[in-house]
Amino acid sequence: MHQMTLAEIARGLADKKFSSEELTKVLLARITQLDPQLNSFISLTEDLAIEQAKAADARRANGESGALLGAPIAHKDLFCTQGIRTSCGSKMLDNFKAPYDATVVAKLAAAGAVTLGKTNMDEFAMGSANESSWYGAVKNPWNLEHVPGGSSGGSAAAVAARLLPAATATDTGGSIRQPAAFTNLTGLKPTYGRVSRWGMIAYASSLDQGGPLARTAEDCAILLQGMAGLDPNDSTSIDEPVPDYSASLGESLQGLRIGVPKEYFSAGLDPRIAELIQNSIQQLQKLGAVIKEISLPNMQHAIPAYYVIAPAEASSNLSRFDGVRFGHRCENPENLIDLYKRSRGEGFGAEVQRRIMVGAYALSAGYYDAYYLKAQKIRRLVKNDFMAAFNEVDIILGPTTPNPAWKLGAKNSDPVAAYLEDVYTITANLAGLPGLSMPAGFVDGLPVGVQLLAPYFQEGRLLNVAHQYQLNTDWHTRTPTGF
Ligand code: GLN
Repeated sequence: MHQMTLAEIARGLADKKFSSEELTKVLLARITQLDPQLNSFISLTEDLAIEQAKAADARRANGESGALLGAPIAHKDLFCTQGIRTSCGSKMLDNFKAPYDATVVAKLAAAGAVTLGKTNMDEFAMGSANESSWYGAVKNPWNLEHVPGGSSGGSAAAVAARLLPAATATDTGGSIRQPAAFTNLTGLKPTYGRVSRWGMIAYASSLDQGGPLARTAEDCAILLQGMAGLDPNDSTSIDEPVPDYSASLGESLQGLRIGVPKEYFSAGLDPRIAELIQNSIQQLQKLGAVIKEISLPNMQHAIPAYYVIAPAEASSNLSRFDGVRFGHRCENPENLIDLYKRSRGEGFGAEVQRRIMVGAYALSAGYYDAYYLKAQKIRRLVKNDFMAAFNEVDIILGPTTPNPAWKLGAKNSDPVAAYLEDVYTITANLAGLPGLSMPAGFVDGLPVGVQLLAPYFQEGRLLNVAHQYQLNTDWHTRTPTGF
């Protein structure tokens, strides 16, 4: 039962082959049995899951239908869940029970999805390895000595290990696409503003975007359908009609213009990954796509710009965690300053503190023009590069990451080494564009992802290209041994 995709579950539930309650119990038992190896969950919500599953079964018995009605999922632990711990992977929020549901959580619950639990993540979504969580590192089910990617590593590891079919995640600089690549999943970062950020604990507000992590493009379409749409509570959510994503999956790729940026194939790219990317290009050519070399000349500046802008926004967003209003408070503060200092010093881990300091520095008087303003100018250049490219091509293709998943601890002493791994993903966040990662093969038994980028609001195009590719390849069907 645990091997089923969301699409297969929807068919099975509609055909009354099993109930949502039965399936939910099977998956909860599987999580209890297998997750100790992975550490992919921070909280399990068994009682809520059974209650939601029973309610979904009752709705189906009353004649209701829907692809998500009775479908088991989990939420990255930065989506607020009413009355349930919402930790953001931090000691700071270990005792925080959200007073309301995030819009994404509420929408998916209304569609009948069943919440099995809250997944582990890098602290405040800062990271690419899921090693900065206060709840401990998450392991990659393909090799337990390797990282699953981050920051949505818990969602990725759980779905890859078939503990559940799909999960929500968020992507500020790659945190949906990179863990998807590292664990052989399909993950979609939507256009900025496509999915509401209300109730999603902020890391860098102008870059953060929620989206689906699943095994197939077909399942990403189903989950995105339940997440997307205008939300009056989020002033950056955009009033653009939500298409039927599943209906966009049948289109031919004949004549599709795929741009391959020459800058992507530089010295930093593992040649074995480059070869797998070439194979995926050939596969898409066989399906009718036309390949064109393009250039994204400002790509080299994207990492430094991102690692100024994201920490700058984080330093502002995280100022609300002051020991007074949310979360952790130190014991016996001597005065207000002592309360702030010790609560924040005890509540935040090393990476979060590092980013707050970098961000506050970049925003401070005297440095604002030199760093923050300059980074914003680069951001515009990165966006302009994409706009020029999309005048010539329909999608852009390349590797999701320059290397496969590294060993746990391998980059702990050198944060910049980890930042450099984001080179292919962060440009989409800087420009606000949608991006998808899908399985493209293996290197040393570790999965490799190919990334597709599209113009604003063309999530349907990305999902269709990935679906056509998946109809003709079987990488996405491979299962890690032991799971
Ligand atoms: N690795 C990037 C960072 O650490 C992206 C994280 C994310 O997308 N949340 O900032």
